[in-house]
Amino acid sequence: MPRPITATIHVASMTHNLARAKACAPGSKAWGVVKANAYGHGLEYALRGFAAADGLALIEFDNAARLRELGWSKPILLLEGWFDTADLHTMAQHGLDGAVHCPEQIAMLESVQLDAKIDVHLKMNTGMNRLGFRPEAFGAAYARLRANPNVGGITLMTHFANADETAHQCVPIREQIRRFNEGAAGLPGAWSLSNSAGVLQMPALADELRSDWIRPGIMLYGGSPGGQSAEAFGLKPTMTLASEIIGVQELQAGDFVGYGSRFQADGAMRVGAVACGYADGYPRHAPTGTPILVDGVRTRTIGRVSMDMLMVDLTPVPQAGVGSRVVLWGEGMPIDEVAAAAGTIGYELMCAITQRVRVLEG
Ligand SMILES: *Cc1c(COP(=O)(O)O)cnc(C)c1O
Repeated sequence: MPRPITATIHVASMTHNLARAKACAPGSKAWGVVKANAYGHGLEYALRGFAAADGLALIEFDNAARLRELGWSKPILLLEGWFDTADLHTMAQHGLDGAVHCPEQIAMLESVQLDAKIDVHLKMNTGMNRLGFRPEAFGAAYARLRANPNVGGITLMTHFANADETAHQCVPIREQIRRFNEGAAGLPGAWSLSNSAGVLQMPALADELRSDWIRPGIMLYGGSPGGQSAEAFGLKPTMTLASEIIGVQELQAGDFVGYGSRFQADGAMRVGAVACGYADGYPRHAPTGTPILVDGVRTRTIGRVSMDMLMVDLTPVPQAGVGSRVVLWGEGMPIDEVAAAAGTIGYELMCAITQRVRVLEG
C-alpha cells in the first residue's frame, strides 16, 4: 500500500469558484490564473475546472506551451512577460500574450522581427512598486509599443496591493484606481485590473472599479485573499490534503513529544502520528494548536512538525487509532485557518505540496 497521504482535487469546486468570480464582475472576461502549477493543483485539472474561463494566465513558459499541447486554444497570458528575445519567438509561435512592465522588455521587442504579432498587456505601477511603468511614463511606453510592428493588441493593466482592505491607510484601492485612470486617460485598449481581492470588491466599488478583464487566482482555488473567510465569500475548497494515523502513543503526565521536546503532557493522553510532514509541504512552522481533523473531529497538532510526520492530540477523538482519516486542510478544515496558525497564507500552502504526495481527483 502506498503511504496514505493524498491531495484530492475537486474539479467541480474549481468550476463553482470561477462562476463566483464571474458573478462579481458581470460583463468582464476572466483570466483563470494558473501560475505555480495552478497553485499546486495541476494544469490538467485547471484546464477542466476552468474550461469556462476566457483565458489562462501564468508565469512559466514551459507550462504555457504545455497548455497549448493539452488543447487550450483560448488566450494565454504570461503575467511577467518575456525575459529574453527567445521568449518573444516562443510567444509568437504559440500565440501567447505577455505583460510588458519595463523599458528593457520594449527594447527586446524592438530588436526582433517576429513571425506573428503578439498581444501585449502594458502594466502600470499604481502604487505596488513591484513591476510596471509609473503613470507619468505610461503614455510614452504605450506610444513606443504602438509604433512597433511586432505588437498586435495592447491591454492596459495594473495590480492592487491592498484590495482586501478598501480603507488601507497606505495605498487604498481607490487611490490606485485614481492613478490608473490618470495614467491611462485617452489610451485605447481593454483594461485588466483585478486580482481575487479586487474581484471580490467589485460589487461594492461598482461605480469606480471597471475592468474588461479580471485576473482571479486564489479565489478559484477556494482560498480567501483576505477580508472574510472563503466560505463567507461563497467559495468551495478545491484541494483536500488528507492522510491517516499510522501510530498511537499513550502519554503520561510529564512526557514530552517530538524533536526539541516542545510539547509536554499535563496528564495522561493519547496522541497519534500522522503520515504528513514538511517534506510533503505541510508547514514546519505550524505550532502546537494548529487545527486538524481526525475522523471528522477538530483537534490540534502538538509538538514540532517533522519531515515525514506530525503529531495530533486524540483527546477529543477517543475512538481514533491507526488507520483513522486525518484532514490537514480542505473539506471541513479551511486552508486559511491552518495557514493563519502557521503564520502564512493559504496560497503558500497550496503551492508547496510536494511531488511525493499522490494527487487524486474527487
Ligand atoms: C498571481 C496574480 C494574480 C492572481 O492573484 P490572486 O491574489 O491569487 O487572485 C493576478 N494578477 C497578477 C499579475 C498575478 O501575478
